[in-house]
Amino acid sequence: MTHYDTILAHGLVVTMDSHYTLIPDGAVAIRGSQIVAVGRLDEVLAEAQVDQVVDCRGAAIIPGLVNAHTHAPMTLLRGLADDLRLDVWLHGYMMPVERQFVDPDFCRLGTRLACAEMIRSGVTCFADMYYYEQDVAATAAEVGMRAICAETILKFPAPGAPTYEDSLAYSRDFIIRWREHPLIRPAVGPHAPYTATPEMLAAAVGLAREFDVPLLIHLSESSHEVQEGEETWEMSPIRWVREQGLFEAKVVAAHCVHVDEAEMRILARAGAGVIHDPTSNLKFASGVAPVPRMLELGIQVGIGEGNRLAPVPGADAVFNIIIRELEASEQLVHYVLGRLLGARSHPNYLRAENRAVVHYHGFGRERANITSCYNHVSLPRVSSRRIPRNCLLLPTWG
Ligand SMILES: [Zn+2]
Repeated sequence: MTHYDTILAHGLVVTMDSHYTLIPDGAVAIRGSQIVAVGRLDEVLAEAQVDQVVDCRGAAIIPGLVNAHTHAPMTLLRGLADDLRLDVWLHGYMMPVERQFVDPDFCRLGTRLACAEMIRSGVTCFADMYYYEQDVAATAAEVGMRAICAETILKFPAPGAPTYEDSLAYSRDFIIRWREHPLIRPAVGPHAPYTATPEMLAAAVGLAREFDVPLLIHLSESSHEVQEGEETWEMSPIRWVREQGLFEAKVVAAHCVHVDEAEMRILARAGAGVIHDPTSNLKFASGVAPVPRMLELGIQVGIGEGNRLAPVPGADAVFNIIIRELEASEQLVHYVLGRLLGARSHPNYLRAENRAVVHYHGFGRERANITSCYNHVSLPRVSSRRIPRNCLLLPTWG
């Protein structure tokens, strides 16, 4: 007799295996922190003893989505300043307000709210770049989400850090404290080329290489940034950071909206990941990233929010659209992503590494009930199908 703690039963299991197999009336069995069986309900239930069965009729069970670029605590600043150019918004509004108000409590509270919103949108993992990242990481871990967390490093004073040396020292301490954590992956976060000095970037790259952690950065988000870069360095930001040795680190570059063919090839050769942030690009009228071409060149492209400030429900719109379309069509999610990105088929987003299972139910009722997270998920082969490493129970949208 096999024992399971919980079975998610009767849902449509979206496997994201090589054939994108869908299992109607499927089941996901959980023991401790692991998914131990996935398949047809009758197969999974055969000779099984189960403590709890969750009826998932009308819901899809899919791998958790990854929000690959965000600034979680900024949720608290939503609505503060809209309809502005990126540089005016950032330097004229956000950064002064952040220097005044952002502290560890702000980051814990903002991250809690962000996590609740992300879980509701089907996200189980996020990549964050903000301040007091110890508090962001602690909150994400407490909630049970996976996160890649990078302390923002700026060439001018930042919350809690009068100089970039202070942010680098904080980053080092943060990496040492969190690098063994099962849910949190620490990273290094020089904000952008236009907020960096060559020395600062070199030190950030050195730190990322020393501990073999990712380096998160914004690259070529707006045309203004690229133009300013050309005036300052006589070359584009991506060429400039290449000169500074940035791509010696494992780079995850947010936005990359204004990139030419040669720059995309630089990113591809460097093995850099690019994060497409359509809601943020829309908010600032930044433009449209050439994602289909990036994919053709073999660049790994993830999808993220960019910021948490688009008016509700805009910040989560991408994830919500995916979920709505999934529910509406019961077809392949990559169709929706393909449509969003202007390309034919990009199924890889749901295959991204997700190691948490978030079981969320109660949507549409008076109170949401976020019940559990399971980490270190591993899956056996079931019925000789390859099964996704994690699943997420999604509520039906009414
Ligand atoms: Zn950002």
